[in-house]
Amino acid sequence: MYITYRYRFYPSKWQAEYIDQKMEMARKTYNQLIHWYLQQTTDVQNSMRRAHSSVSGSFSDDEDASIADSSNEVPIIRNVNQHLIDHFLTEDTRCSLVDRTIVLHAIKTFDRNRIATQEHQGIMRFKSIDRKQSCTIYARELSLSIDGPKLHTTLLGTCSITMTRKPIGRLLLATFSRATSGKYYISLLMKKRDTQKNIRKTLSKQSIRIVGIDVGLSHYLTLSSGFHVKNPRFMDRQLKAIKRDHHRFSRAQPGSRNQRKKKRRLGVRYEHLNNQRKSFLHRLSTQLIKDYDVICIETLDIEGMKRQRRRSRQISDASWGQFIEMLTYKAKWNGKVIMKVPHHLPSSKQCCRCRYIKRDLTLSDRHWRCPQCQTEHDRDTNAAINVLIAGTKQLLRTYPSTDPKALKPALSDQR
Ligand SMILES: [Zn+2]
Repeated sequence: MYITYRYRFYPSKWQAEYIDQKMEMARKTYNQLIHWYLQQTTDVQNSMRRAHSSVSGSFSDDEDASIADSSNEVPIIRNVNQHLIDHFLTEDTRCSLVDRTIVLHAIKTFDRNRIATQEHQGIMRFKSIDRKQSCTIYARELSLSIDGPKLHTTLLGTCSITMTRKPIGRLLLATFSRATSGKYYISLLMKKRDTQKNIRKTLSKQSIRIVGIDVGLSHYLTLSSGFHVKNPRFMDRQLKAIKRDHHRFSRAQPGSRNQRKKKRRLGVRYEHLNNQRKSFLHRLSTQLIKDYDVICIETLDIEGMKRQRRRSRQISDASWGQFIEMLTYKAKWNGKVIMKVPHHLPSSKQCCRCRYIKRDLTLSDRHWRCPQCQTEHDRDTNAAINVLIAGTKQLLRTYPSTDPKALKPALSDQR
C-alpha cells in the first residue's frame, strides 16, 4: 500500500535557491521532451503526407485538410524511455546523482502524460514557470529523516516543517514543490505493509451498520437517518474577493513587480480555498467511515451535471468526485464497503414507503406528501432512504453470504 504525506516546510534562503534551481531543471527537461516529441510527431505526419501525395499525384487544399484530420492517430513511438534515458544520461556525464533522478523522474512523468494525452486525443502542455513547480528525488539519493519539527536530508541539511502526522513505512520518493502562493511543500511517498482489513470480516459481524447517502446542492449530503450536512459553499463565500483579485491582476502592468505581487495574492487565495475544501472533505469522509460499515451512494454523472451552465460552478465547488474518491480509499483501508448505486433510479421522486412515483415533483419541492400513503417526505431524506434500499439489495447480491438480519440500517423516523 502506498501513502503520500505532505508537509509544509520552511527552507532557508540558500535552501530555497537550491530547490528552485532543481525545480527549474525538472521543468526544462520536461519541456525539452515535449518539444522533441512534437517534432517527432510532425515528422511522422509530414512523411505520411508525402507518401499520400506520391500515390495520388497532386492534390488540392481540400484533400490536404482531410489528411491532416485523419493523422490524429499519431503512431505510438516505442522505446521513448530508453532512448531518452540514454540521451540525457550519457551526454552530460557531469550530472550528479540527484540531477539524474530528477531527469529520470521528469522522463517518467512525460511518458505517463504522453500516453494519457494520446488516449484522450489531447494536446501535451508545456510546463509554465507561472504555475506550481516541483521536482522529485529518489529516496536512495536523499537519506532523509524526520525528528519532530525538523527534517534532515543530505542535500539540504536541516530545515523546519509543520509536522501533522508521522510518516509510516519505507520512503520511496520525495517531491519538493512550490505553490503559486510561494509556499514550499514536501511530499513523501511511502510504502507501507498491507494492513487492509477484510471486508468479509466486517460483513460477518453481528450488527452491520448501513447507511444511504443523497448528495445535493442545498445540503451537501443527507443521510438516510435524516441527518443533513450543510453545503459549505467555499467558492461562493470568497467569490467576491477572488473576482477583485483577478481584476487587480489583470490591470497590473505585464512583467512588473506589481503584477508578480498580485499574482501571488491570487495564488494564496486559491490555495486557501483548496485547503478549506480538502479539510472539510477529509473530516466528513473519515467520520462516515468511522460511523458505518456499509455506505450506499449514488454514482454521479458529474460531467453531465457541470454542463448545466447555471450551476456548474457550484457543482465543481462541491467536488463530490473528490469526496467519493476519499470515501473509497478510506473504506478500502478500513475494510468497509461502498455500494455504488446506479444513478438512473428515480430516487427523489419515489416514495420510500409504498414505492409510488410522483412524476411531477420539481427541484424546488423540498417537502411533499405521498398521494397514495399520505407520508410527509423531506425530499433529500426520502432520496437517501431509496439509495439505502437499492444499496442493500445490491449488497446482498454482491455478498450473498451476508446475513440480512444483521443489517442495522440508519433510518429516520419519517419511515
Ligand atoms: Zn407513499
